This record gives sequence, structure tokens and C-alpha cells, in this order.
Amino acid sequence: MSEILIRNASTVLTMDDTRRELSQVDIRLRDGVIAEIGSDLVSDAEVIQAAGCVVTPGLVNTHHHLYQSMTRAVPGGQDALLFGWLQTLYPIWSRFGPEEMFVSAQVGLAELALSGCTLTSDHLYLYPNGARLDDTIHAAAEVGMRFHPTHGSMSIGESDGGLPPDSLVENEADILNESIRLIDRFHDASEGSMVRVGVAPCSPFSVSRDLMRDAAILARDKGVMMHTHLAENEEDISYSLEKFGCRPGQYAQDLGWVGDDVWHAHCVKLDGREIDLFAKSRTGVAHCPCSNCRLGSGIAPVRAMRDAGVKVGLGVDGSASNDTGNLVLEARQSMLLQRVSQGADAMSAREALEIATRGGAEVLGRDDCGQIAVGKRADIAIWDVTGIESAGSWDPAALLLAGPTKVRDLFVEGKQIVRDGHVTTLDVPKVIERQNALALTLAG
Ligand SMILES: [Zn+2]
Repeated sequence: MSEILIRNASTVLTMDDTRRELSQVDIRLRDGVIAEIGSDLVSDAEVIQAAGCVVTPGLVNTHHHLYQSMTRAVPGGQDALLFGWLQTLYPIWSRFGPEEMFVSAQVGLAELALSGCTLTSDHLYLYPNGARLDDTIHAAAEVGMRFHPTHGSMSIGESDGGLPPDSLVENEADILNESIRLIDRFHDASEGSMVRVGVAPCSPFSVSRDLMRDAAILARDKGVMMHTHLAENEEDISYSLEKFGCRPGQYAQDLGWVGDDVWHAHCVKLDGREIDLFAKSRTGVAHCPCSNCRLGSGIAPVRAMRDAGVKVGLGVDGSASNDTGNLVLEARQSMLLQRVSQGADAMSAREALEIATRGGAEVLGRDDCGQIAVGKRADIAIWDVTGIESAGSWDPAALLLAGPTKVRDLFVEGKQIVRDGHVTTLDVPKVIERQNALALTLAG
């Protein structure tokens, strides 16, 4: 039995069914679950003092490419649009191997943890030189992050009219067999699961219709979720109209890619009919505001999606297109970006935080996560609001307006993985040193 008592939190933003905000309360974590919430709780467990802190559910990241943390701010990719950016980076990524995948994932996961993230998905869609999804799964286990890795893939190379070089694409039968191996080896559907595998062809412009359809059939047969990139920018829409004769929403629907078990990254260019389709079918969206800004892709219609009832979560997206991986800053950016297009009342700090927590958990099919309520998993972020960022704030619980951009403490499944602003599960300086050495070799 493991037990922790979070004592005397100034404010708890529960994100529970009635979105309660509690003051001066204790939270007792027991065996990975939130066991009790109240005042003056009695326990002989380890006590974490939370006076002067805002406590929230752990943040949920619904879209990432962890491996890209090793290719941040690459010259030549810094100012390109999506397709040109990809063509700059593909040759570099083709030199990755298992160690690059593992170390870059350690860095990406540690960075996420420091920004309050307790559950992340990852989309790995290239496997050069013996790299495998297993490399990132091992990194997440080491960090202690709840992890939804997705088995990505690319099958249409340059010589077949696709975007990636032929050296990075795989045979479609091999792709499906590897998905089966990964699901059978790692997927855990149980409540409180630390690893759930998804199936994730990279995008409509890098795999065939057949693979999209077969991947959906496989995912449903295995009872796992499906993920891809969709409607990211104008180039993406033009490609869909030209190659498939329809918009991305139609393409997704035709191939079985809508439903409660599907979430699509970006969706910047969804039109009104596609938003209705996603709402009716309970299809999820991973909104990635910083990446959309960085690549000039546009502003996703998140206000319209939320109003229509679409499930929306947040994603930092890969660190080659962000280039940071700070999830609480991503939440702030989502709030700001809706205001740019829709006005200052388009999204509150609390709604953006809800998208970053409960919203993401809903997108990933995790009704056991994303809220602070008795019986839910003990994934908890503690934010110290006694520092300079919150000094003078009249509403410290409006974290995204004036609050820290790093957590003080973080718990996943009741286990502490960040303490006093430091990751407890990794030797971070050593990992950074290795990451920089490997990046230097790739650059050479
Ligand atoms: Zn992406």
C-alpha cells in the first residue's frame, strides 16, 4: 500500500462533473487512486504541504512526436511551411536509431512532466536503423509517465508521389504485423493502465487508402484507438481535393476514421460540416496551437468545435515544430489564439485548462483520468503560486493568465515524478548531455 497526503492546498481546480473549485483542502492518494478529498484528513502517510499552491489534475498531451526533441530549431526548417519543413527534416530523421529514439523520448517526457503533464500520447511514424516503438515505451516507463504510444507509419514514398523519401517508408503488410506485435506486447486496456497502444498511419499524404482502411479494421478488431494528422493547413486540403476528390472529413469518414475511438491532430481547416460530423460521431481533436503558429498553418476553430460538442484536447506536437514541449504554455497559447480570431471572451483561462486536463483525457478515452475526484487515478499537478509570476494576481487559480510555467510537484498513479521542480526518476543533466552529443553527431 502506498499513500500520500496533499495537505492544505490553497485552491483545487477539480475539473470534476460540476467543475468544483475547493479552498484549503487535503487530498489523500492511495494505491494510485484519489481516495479522499476534504479538510483535516487524518493519515500517517507522507505529507506534501500545498499551502500557497494551486492543485490541478495532471495535464494531458494528446499529440506529440517525442523523437523530434533532438531536432529542435534546425536551420532550414525554422521558417518553412509544413511540406517544405518535412522535406528538410526527413533526411535528418532517417539517420536516427534506437538510442536517438530512447534519449529524445527521455528529454521530451521530462520536459512534459516539468510542465505538469501526467499522461501523454506519442506518434512515432518512422523506424530507421532498427528503431522501434519499444524504445519510447521503455523511456516512458523509466520516467513514470502514463503513456499512449501510437504505432505510426508511412508507406507512400517519393517515387509513388508521396512526400517522404523512399528510405523512410515501409511495406504495408509489415506495418500491420508490427502494430499487432506492439498491441499484443504492450497494450493494457484495464482501468489505471499505464500503457495503451494506438494505431496511427502518419497522414493521408504518406499512406495509401488501403492502409488507412486496414489500420481502422485492425484497431477495432483489437479494441485500440486510432490517430492521424488531418486538415492541418491549406496545402493539406488541396492535396486531399486533388488526390482523393474530397475534403479530409469525407476521406476520414469513407475509410472508417471517425468515431469515439478516433482522434485527429490539428484539424485547423475543418469546415462547419466536418465539425458537425466530428461532434455527431464523437471523434476527437488534438489541438496544437504553438505548432500551428510556428508553421503558419492557421487558427483551429476550437470555439466552434467546443460549442458543437466536439471532444478537444491539447497537443504540444513534435519539438521540431514548436519547438518547446511545455504543455501549460500550450494551454495558454490555445486561450490566446482563440481570442485573436474570436475576441477576448472566446476562451477563459479555466476553459483552456479544462481542455488541457479533462478534455485531453476524454479524447484519449480515459474517463479514469483528467479530474480530481474520489476514485479517479491519482494524477496530480501542484503549482506554487507564491512566486514572481503570480505576485499581485487577484486570482491565482487563473493559472494561465498569471502563473508558473513549471510544476513544483507532480504525481502519476500516486507516485511522485517531480519534486521541487526536479524530475525524480531521471538524471536529467546526464540525459541532456547525451541528447546534445547525439544531436551534434546528426548535424555532422
Ligand atoms: Zn504532428
